[in-house]
Amino acid sequence: MEYVIVNGEFVERSQAKVDIEDRGFQFGDGVYEVIRVYNGKMFTADEHLERLHVSGEKIGLKIPYSVEELKELLAELISKNDLKLGTIYMQFTRGVSPRNHPFPAETIALGFTANIKHVGRPSENMDNGVKALLKEDVRWLLCDVKSLNLLGNLLAKQEAVAAGCFEAIQHRGETVTEGSASNISIVKDGKVFTHPATNLILNGITRRVFLDLCEKNQIPYAEEAFTLTDLLEADEVFLSSTTAEIMPIIHINDKPVGAGAPGPVTKKLQELFLHEIEEQCGKIM
Ligand SMILES: *Cc1c(COP(=O)(O)O)cnc(C)c1O
Repeated sequence: MEYVIVNGEFVERSQAKVDIEDRGFQFGDGVYEVIRVYNGKMFTADEHLERLHVSGEKIGLKIPYSVEELKELLAELISKNDLKLGTIYMQFTRGVSPRNHPFPAETIALGFTANIKHVGRPSENMDNGVKALLKEDVRWLLCDVKSLNLLGNLLAKQEAVAAGCFEAIQHRGETVTEGSASNISIVKDGKVFTHPATNLILNGITRRVFLDLCEKNQIPYAEEAFTLTDLLEADEVFLSSTTAEIMPIIHINDKPVGAGAPGPVTKKLQELFLHEIEEQCGKIM
């Protein structure tokens, strides 16, 4: 049996229902998070749940649970489903009300759902690297909100996948922003560059973890925007996200990046990242 959370209650998956006038369903009016689970333990749960609150605040949506309360509920979701290795997906919407663009006047129940997925680490792609496609970033200007509105991201991802690529690398004119569901970084002469955490990117938790690892391990880095030319002339390129961890990008628009194989700085960061996972969640087999 698979259990999910609907408005704070545990229900069996097949019994879970949402209202057709949930504003998440009709408008994408809500925010979400994806948290990694290793060895039955959540990785960087505080960071994700704090970001959920921040995303909510940015769209005037109050998350009616504290970080601690959410952690307890999610830990129960993990144990009820006997989840060892996988992800938790959760979302909060502005609840159910007759379809109308302005926010509903009365206080409404916020649509809170969560479910789990049993899924392994993407070892092959992490070891061998993946291809990426360049794509103009046509999204809105609140990319710092982890919003349910993902149409721009989906269009980019779909185009990449149709071209045989793993991810789209989005750019606004000459400036590289981020992937469709990941942050993008380059390495030039041993130094890591990644777009600063402005409204033009989602400030990834994985991004924050590896920047912290750079700091602690004397790997030079800068949160500085870089151009398409910088990208195409980089020694190494990698993407980062909760599900992909740190993944080398070895081809862009079918041209090899550097030597066309995962580079030393990316591999070092992967190793440090794994160590960080093991510190929090125990040995990864
Ligand atoms: C979730 C997401 C990321 C990666 O964030 P993590 O917290 O590392 O998973 C990057 N970009 C976008 C657009 C995202 O939605």
